Amino acid sequence: MLWASLIVSVITAIIFGIVSKTINENKGYYGGFAWGFWLGIIGIIVVACKPENKSRESFAEKIYNDDLRKERIVSEGGWKCNRCGRTNASYTTTCICGTSEKENKNWEKKEVKTSDRQTSQADELKKFKDLLDSGAITQEEYNVKKKQLLNL
Ligand SMILES: [Zn+2]
Repeated sequence: MLWASLIVSVITAIIFGIVSKTINENKGYYGGFAWGFWLGIIGIIVVACKPENKSRESFAEKIYNDDLRKERIVSEGGWKCNRCGRTNASYTTTCICGTSEKENKNWEKKEVKTSDRQTSQADELKKFKDLLDSGAITQEEYNVKKKQLLNL
């Protein structure tokens, strides 16, 4: 009989624990099993009397707040990694992707340089195409120049 009543009280405690956990999580908190498990009905009353937790953000709010956080970080002297797009605080000298703040400026420049070079290559090529069309250079000469420009 002692074992039977012990088992019944443990099962009751677990049920109370699950109920208090459910109420607690519905209110926006984490956990809460221990309240019902150890205090039974009193624990459930305690959890039920808690105010709703408004600070736990919804997913949409989280994204919105993340954007605000990034803006704030940048306004406080932080920097945006040009390699991976992560926003780093001013005290962070190396981004998680391995780019240091100094290198980051190079990343920006490198990208510009590459696109600049591509534009000038296209301009050059167009010039030679015009020369070819006007008969100033032969097709063969044009092909050689094209190979040189495109590094083929
Ligand atoms: Zn990065």
